[in-house]
Amino acid sequence: MIKIPFLDLKRVNTPYMDSLMDAATDVVESGWYIRGSHCEKFEKEFAAYCGFAHGIGVGNGLDALTLMLRASIELGRLKPGDEILVPSNTYIATVLAVNAAGLVPVLVEPDERTFNIDPAKLAAACSPKTRGVLAVHLYGRLADMSAIWKFAAERNLLVFEDAAQSHGAQSGSAKHAGKKSVAVAYSFYPTKNLGALGDAGMVVTDDAELARVVRMLGNYGSEQKYVNRYRGVNSRLDEIQAAFLLAKLPHLDAWNARRREIAARYVNEVTNPLVRLPEIPADPQEHVWHVFTIRLPDRVTRDKMQGYLESRGIGTLIFYPIPPHRQEAYEDRFDGKFPIAENLAETVLSIPVSQVLDDEEVTEIIGALNEFSV
Ligand SMILES: *Cc1c(COP(=O)(O)O)cnc(C)c1O
Repeated sequence: MIKIPFLDLKRVNTPYMDSLMDAATDVVESGWYIRGSHCEKFEKEFAAYCGFAHGIGVGNGLDALTLMLRASIELGRLKPGDEILVPSNTYIATVLAVNAAGLVPVLVEPDERTFNIDPAKLAAACSPKTRGVLAVHLYGRLADMSAIWKFAAERNLLVFEDAAQSHGAQSGSAKHAGKKSVAVAYSFYPTKNLGALGDAGMVVTDDAELARVVRMLGNYGSEQKYVNRYRGVNSRLDEIQAAFLLAKLPHLDAWNARRREIAARYVNEVTNPLVRLPEIPADPQEHVWHVFTIRLPDRVTRDKMQGYLESRGIGTLIFYPIPPHRQEAYEDRFDGKFPIAENLAETVLSIPVSQVLDDEEVTEIIGALNEFSV
């Protein structure tokens, strides 16, 4: 019996039952259900929270990624077939979005220490067709954006960010790293640090022109009813999800602070030499611990640890068991080998780190990790 689930979404949301019900009532009574005042307010508030001028609500994170890339094509800044560097170690959505936009994903191996794309490996992945980098802040830790921006500036590449796991991560005084990036894509899938009660996503950017095109693309390529400038899609942020997200946003910083507290306890109190712990960045604000991921020496030990924790009532997940280039969807599509991504898929294990865990539960998880042996 699992006593401590990996993530208990009911426990995440029920403390806010009253404000969620008020938000829902508000939307029902408004009589306006898609791209209305709640969406507009949430776009403004979330973009401002991230330090950007514009936010465009869309249907989900995959669409946010795809539409910011497609908008760059419509504006003539990228063209179909251009190559975009993406991490080999990411959720498949990052790679799918590049293809969906008509661009070509080129995989770059991660730095094992941070799990994020390794800026030192960008140059070797470039070809004359390379036009951009799509960085991912995996597990909630900001990628090394200053190195990526520097590299991109030297080669005249556009930089995009997949921030689906890093709501509220902060670099220096700015909430989020993205200032020199073209745009940043967010997902509000229910499990994310800021999650809706359904699907939702957003593109944030300082570029008014790009914002306008993303907004049109998500609305059938139209900004004037029945006048279609682009071959768009239907990807809009529902009023009810925007209202829920407005109710939850004020709590995000406190939730992230609690995640950092739990992560620090794991890092300080887990002493089992079989467990390789993740690193807390020099500036702890750069990490929001979307998941807390340990590594074991090999697949057999990892699988044993997962079974052992399950027997102790602790839920875990593997992010991700099969890297994108190994998926059937991408069979034979990628040249070269990605041994780091493959080794990570065999050795990583994520343990509970959600803000809802209490101190006793964290103590129990630490105890179980320390008592594991092969
Ligand atoms: C969740 C996630 C996405 C996709 O978001 P959806 O809202 O599920 O479409 C994209 N990239 C990363 C890194 C994610 O974790």
